[in-house]
Parts: sequence; C-alpha cells; structure tokens
Amino acid sequence: MAQISSKASEKPWYSPCPSCPAALRRAMLGGEGKLCSCSNHQIPYVTDLEYDRIINNPVSSPEQISVICITSSLRSTDYDPGPDEHLESLYERKNKNRTMPCIQSHLDSFRLLRYDINSADEFTDHCGSLLMKRHNVTPGMFLMYIQGKLLFANYIFNGYSKSAKDLQKQITLTRCDYNKGYYLPTDYRFR
Ligand SMILES: [Zn+2]
Repeated sequence: MAQISSKASEKPWYSPCPSCPAALRRAMLGGEGKLCSCSNHQIPYVTDLEYDRIINNPVSSPEQISVICITSSLRSTDYDPGPDEHLESLYERKNKNRTMPCIQSHLDSFRLLRYDINSADEFTDHCGSLLMKRHNVTPGMFLMYIQGKLLFANYIFNGYSKSAKDLQKQITLTRCDYNKGYYLPTDYRFR
C-alpha cells in the first residue's frame, strides 16, 4: 500500500495544475514540477501539445474567457508586435502580486495566453501549427474561448482596435454571445 502511494507521488503526471500550460506540458513530457511557475509579467505560452486541455480547463470559473494572442517568433511577416505590449502590461497589472499566476487567476473574468505560430508544434509529432490548420490563424490575431467553445477570432477587439480598453469591451460582448448560445463552429476558418 505504502509502495503504491510513493510511486504515485513520484510520477504525478496525472495531477499537474490543469490551468497552467507550462506545468501541463512538463507533465505530458514526463518532467517534474506540477505547479505553475509562470512569470507574473510575461504572458505564458501555450503550445499544440496541451492546447485543447487548456481551453477546456474544467477548474477555471465557468465563464472565464481564455484570450489567445497569436504571435510569431519570426518577425519577418507583416505582423506588428507593438499592440501586444498593451496586453503584456495588462497581464502584469492583473498578476503583479501573484506567485502562481495560472492557479491564482482561476476566478478572473478572463486570462491571457500567447501562442507562437512558428514553434507551437515543437512537442508534437505533427508538423505545422495546429491553429493554422484548424482555423487559418495568422500572427496578430486573437481567439477567445469559454469552456472550449470558440467565440471570437479577429485582429481587432470591439470592431476598433487592439487596445486593452477595447479588449475589455470585447470581453463583455463575447460573454453576451456565449450567454445567448452563439459560438463559432469547431472547424471555423478565418478568411
Ligand atoms: Zn503557469
């Protein structure tokens, strides 16, 4: 009996923090560290490996919106990283007193995550970004989900800009859509 429990504590792959992409990824790759150790001033990255588990995370508050910022580590395209800095400072303001931001944000109305289109496939056996294949996303876009349902996919919030203010307005609109039962199909492709 004691043996079983010590074995279980050695390999806690089944119980990492389910809202932390880095902890989930470590666990799925067989590594150590099941708690969130993400930065409280840099938005955490989510990759293809843990993507669907993160957007379907059952422990966050039922109406929490996951905002995925699509970025590119290859700065050669038309993608302008400038507007993302507003979101980075918004993330920093929300999390400044937190030591485990993914865990401590579970009651927030929304959370911010980054997705790098160029390296997202790194830990998988497929080649090329999951979100490019699934939704035809490009750097500079944002996706919003509640409980795994895709509700928003666009380059600007609220029809106006990428500002933190329009993000907050878009969050209200997106929650409204969700409450009315509107969402995008799972195979939605951005044109
Ligand atoms: Zn984390």
